[in-house]
This record gives sequence, C-alpha cells and structure tokens, in this order.
Amino acid sequence: MPFFRPHRKVAPGGPRLGATPRTITRHALDSALACGASALPNEFGGVLRADPPGVISELLLLPGTTAGHRHANFRLFMLPADLTVVGTVHSHPSGALHPSAADLQLFRNWGSRHLILGAPFDPGCWRAYDGNGRETHLDVVGAPGDVPARLRPYRPRGRRALPSSPRLPEDEP
Ligand code: ZN
Repeated sequence: MPFFRPHRKVAPGGPRLGATPRTITRHALDSALACGASALPNEFGGVLRADPPGVISELLLLPGTTAGHRHANFRLFMLPADLTVVGTVHSHPSGALHPSAADLQLFRNWGSRHLILGAPFDPGCWRAYDGNGRETHLDVVGAPGDVPARLRPYRPRGRRALPSSPRLPEDEP
C-alpha cells in the first residue's frame, strides 16, 4: 500500500505555521500606524496575522472592538480558530511605548508578538514585545507601498472561545 502524505507549501527549513514571527511587512506596520493616527484622541486595537508563517503581513480589525481615550477593549472571542493570528497591536495616544500593567496581562494571556504604537505615529513610533512583555526585535521588510493593501475588517465564519477579553485601562499618565 503506498503511503500518501499531504503536500505542504512551506519552504524547506522555513518557518512553519504557528512559528514565532521574526518579521513584519512595511505595509502592515504602516497600516497599523495610520490606524493609530486616525483613531486619535482614542486608542486603536487590532490583531496581527502572519501569512506566510513567520512574517506579520496583515492587520485584522475585530468587529465590536471599541476604543476609548484610555483603553482599547479587545474582544478576542471574535478571533477565528486560526494559527496565523499571532498577537495584538494597539496604540497609546500618550506616546508611551512601554506596556501598561493591563497590557502585560493581555500579552501573557495570549499571543507571541505584540505591538505598541505611540503618538505621533511616525515610522519609528512602535515597539514589539513577546508574550512575557519583554521588548523584542522584528525586521521590517518591503518598501512603502510595494505590497497590496490587506487591511480589512475580519468577518467571522465561526467563533472560538478564548480565555478572556480583557479591558485595558491605561495606566500611563
Ligand atoms: Zn497599552
């Protein structure tokens, strides 16, 4: 009996589905910074997809995510059962780039890479953190505008229960 294995479109030796991303596309980063700027004076929040694995390439705006002056309310139960979703992104209108206590709680709860963006949302106004809230590095790939727009609202086809949907009161001044 021949033994068939499903063919996987993964580069040999490359990152696999669920791998911790090391890279973000310039387009995804610029889109997130633009969202942060347009949400002012409120916070903006979303989640990050890595597709292909290892490369954060898409920003998802979850339905029902509300943003306030001092908080972004993530409704993570709206997330798909999707291993390409790797973490969160949100903005700090104060310009602070360090995580608040509530942010650390969110980071530890779920996801391997999290971005914090700060006003005035210039190209360098961001930091990446791991699931323990430690600052980490992401390579930015691609020139501005050379990747097709992939910013779109996420429309759920099925729901998956996640541990919580924490509210994020900001404790920055
Ligand atoms: Zn925050």
